[in-house]
Amino acid sequence: MGYDEILGQEKIKKHLMDITKSDSISHGYIFEGPKGTGKLKLASIFAQTILCLERDDYPCSTCSSCIKAQAGSHPDIHIMDYSENSIKRQDVDEIQEIVYVKPYESRKKVIILNDAHKMTVQASNTFLKTLEEPPEDTVIILITVNQSLIIPTLVSRCQTVKLDRISDSEVKRILVEEYEVDSQKAGLITGYSKGIVQRAVNILKEEVNILQLRGEIVDMVDNILKSGKSTVFEYEKYFDKHKDDIDDILEILMIWFRDLSFYKVGAMNQIINIDRMDLIEKQSVKTDKKRCSEIYEVFQNTYDDVKSNVNYKLAIDNMLFGIQEVKHDYNCLLRKIYKAYSGTSGFGKGIYRYIFYWSNHSLI
Ligand SMILES: [Zn+2]
Repeated sequence: MGYDEILGQEKIKKHLMDITKSDSISHGYIFEGPKGTGKLKLASIFAQTILCLERDDYPCSTCSSCIKAQAGSHPDIHIMDYSENSIKRQDVDEIQEIVYVKPYESRKKVIILNDAHKMTVQASNTFLKTLEEPPEDTVIILITVNQSLIIPTLVSRCQTVKLDRISDSEVKRILVEEYEVDSQKAGLITGYSKGIVQRAVNILKEEVNILQLRGEIVDMVDNILKSGKSTVFEYEKYFDKHKDDIDDILEILMIWFRDLSFYKVGAMNQIINIDRMDLIEKQSVKTDKKRCSEIYEVFQNTYDDVKSNVNYKLAIDNMLFGIQEVKHDYNCLLRKIYKAYSGTSGFGKGIYRYIFYWSNHSLI
């Protein structure tokens, strides 16, 4: 196990290597970055390097310390991962017990606290005391998606290591050059990678079923666009089943309508779902340009509603009705036709009557 297991993040890896090479290791670190960037793995490799008997920038992978670290059985590497929604005072007490015990066999011990932002205020304050005067032989690494969710007094006692998303062009380059993916597929996967190489690779290896999910979602959009309002309710069960995928679903929808908007202005090279051009073309005829670009707000509201625990079903229904409204405003068109019909007589009236009848039955 070494830093090459983490894809991308070259600057961060270099920074961590410099720390161990120069033996300028601090007591506290915060590894911050979006979900899926490999924070926990990176922290584990950093811990292994700190304890490696070779004491260099890179873990040697062969010393007895590295072998135990790689097997996840090093007695001086403690990965604390609490599955509950919050990390409580009692959990921090447990961590403190480890902090004040001497390392079993290494010169230091490393404690990694995953999802550190889940600490309650009380737990954070208890933890703060540990970080104020940590034993010399202790290194604490807090892992979080967002360090602003951790109390500032804790943050100020740690060095922050920030893992960022990387550019789409870099994700695509890695897929093409290192995974030999063809350019079109690489572009598609990159579009759904959120700038996280690991996520892109997981999509490629089908460990994340985003492309299957996309198939289901765009079919749903198609169905909603061609059917009546009652269709919306048919999808309630589907969304209930996919509650945990709602972030991915919203992202798929945003990318899909973004593609429709680009198609409408002829910006073909911006389209991500390039393998579904047939459907994009078909739906672009049915939808209104302005409404396609405005629907982002609907998805953003759905995201906010779901995160703030607004009634999930209601939030989804609103979103689905929102999707239905991106259709051309045929009601408005019908009103215009009817108005023209009312003001005409004779042969003209007959034509309008025909158009009105046809429109009423074919368009809505
Ligand atoms: Zn080693």
